[in-house]
Amino acid sequence: MDKLKEECGVIGVYVKDEKLAARLAYYGLYALQHRGQESAGITINNNGNLESIKGMGLVSEVFSEDDLNKLKGMIAIGHVRYSTSGDKELNNCQPVVAKYKHGSIALAHNGSLTNGDGIRDMLEEEGAVFHTTLDSESILQLISRQHKRGIESALKNTISLIKGGYAIVITTKDQLIGVRDPHGIRPLCIGQIDDGSYILASESCALDVIDATFIRDVEPGEVVVIDNMGLKSIRPTHWGQKKLCIFEMIYLARQDSIIDGYSVFEFRRRSGEILARECNAEADMVIPVPDSGISAAIGFSAASGIPYMEGLVKNRYVGRTFIQPTQEHRVRAVKLKLTPIRQTLKGKRVIMVDDSIVRGTTSKRIVEQVRKAGAVEVHLCITSPPVQYCCYYGIDTPDRNSLIGAVKSVDEICEYIGADSLTYLSLEGLREVCDNKSGFCRACFNGNYPIEVPISEIMEE
Ligand code: SF4
Repeated sequence: MDKLKEECGVIGVYVKDEKLAARLAYYGLYALQHRGQESAGITINNNGNLESIKGMGLVSEVFSEDDLNKLKGMIAIGHVRYSTSGDKELNNCQPVVAKYKHGSIALAHNGSLTNGDGIRDMLEEEGAVFHTTLDSESILQLISRQHKRGIESALKNTISLIKGGYAIVITTKDQLIGVRDPHGIRPLCIGQIDDGSYILASESCALDVIDATFIRDVEPGEVVVIDNMGLKSIRPTHWGQKKLCIFEMIYLARQDSIIDGYSVFEFRRRSGEILARECNAEADMVIPVPDSGISAAIGFSAASGIPYMEGLVKNRYVGRTFIQPTQEHRVRAVKLKLTPIRQTLKGKRVIMVDDSIVRGTTSKRIVEQVRKAGAVEVHLCITSPPVQYCCYYGIDTPDRNSLIGAVKSVDEICEYIGADSLTYLSLEGLREVCDNKSGFCRACFNGNYPIEVPISEIMEE
C-alpha cells in the first residue's frame, strides 16, 4: 500500500508460572502484528534450555495450540518480522539462538544498524560463521564473545560498538534483558503483571492485551535486566539526545499505544487539527483513508467544522502475501483493500485525510476510485510533510529517486495524483504537534540524521 514499513516488533516475558510465558508472548505478538507480517517466532527458556518455534506467516499461522502447550519455561522472547526483499527466508526468522561457552542465548531485534556491514566484515575476518543475513546475529556474536566478564559488561561493550536504531530483547540462562538504542529511535516499554513478573514490548498495546500494567519506557541507551531479584536498570554510558522515530507516531504504531509519553491516537488527532488550519480547501465532508487516517480525520473535522464521514471501506482480510510485485497485481490489491462508498461520495466535495505519500502510486489510485464513485472534488490532506529522504534506522523505504516527495514539487505531486488540491502538514505544524519538543527523529522529512549514515549509501540513492 505504498507506505513506509516497520521492520519488526519484539516482546519479552518473565513470569513465575512456566506454563504462561509462551502464551503471553503469543498474545503480545498478536497485538504487535502490524509491525511485521512475514514471519513470527517465540523462544522459550526453561532453566537455560532454549526451544524455539518460528515460521513464515502471521502469528495465527505460525503457532498452534499444541505448540503453546508444549513450550514451558519462565522466560519467553518473541518477534514478528517484516523483511526487506531478498531475505525472506525461514533461516532469517527471529529470535536468533546460539550456544556458546557460557550456555545458550537468544535475541530478538527491531531496527537496523548503520554500521552493520562493517561489524559483520570485522567478525567474518576474525573467523565468525553466520547462519543468517541479520544484524541480529552480529549483535549476538558480539555479546557472546565478550561474555566472559559477565553479561552486563558484554552488553556495554556491544552497545559501544553498534550504531543505529534498535530495540532488543535477550534471554540468557536465567535473565530477560531489554536494550534500547542510545537515541531511543526504536520504542521499547516495560510492563508488570505482578510482583516479579515483567513484560518488555515494542508498544504498550501488547501490554494491554495481557493485562500488564505499563510501568515506563526503556530510556535511550538503557539496559534493563530482569531475573529472580527483580528489575535492574543499567544506565547508559553511551547515549545521545532522545530521537524517537516520528513515523511511529504518524503511521507505524498502533493508535492505542502510548510511546515516550505520547498517545499515538492523540498525536494523530492533533495532526488533523493543525492540518485543518493549514488547508484552504472547501468541502462537504472529511473522509479518512482507513485505518491510519481515521484519528487525524476526526481532528480535522472537529477543527474545521466539516462533517466527518466514512467514504472508503477497508477489507481487513487482504494480507500482505497477496500483494505481488507486478504492476497489475498492485492495482488489484488497492481495489481489493479499499472500496469507495458511492452513496456517501456521489456529488460531494471531499477532503481525504491520509498519513503519508511515499511513491504516490496508491494515493493516485485512491483518488481515481473516489472520483469514479461520484465525488466532484477530491482534496488530499496528508498528516506529514513530504517524505524526501531514506531511513537507515529500521524502516523500509524505497530508494530516494522513488520517493515522490524527493523528486517532485507539491504542485507536481498534486497533478500526478490527480487531486484538486494537495496539502501536506508543514514541518512547523508537525513541530507544534510534538509540543515543539526536539525529541524526535524527523530525518526522512529534513535529512538531519541523528546518527551518521554512511556517505556511500546516500550517494547511491
Ligand atoms: Fe523514523 Fe524517518 Fe527517522 Fe527513519 S528517518 S527513524 S522513518 S523519522
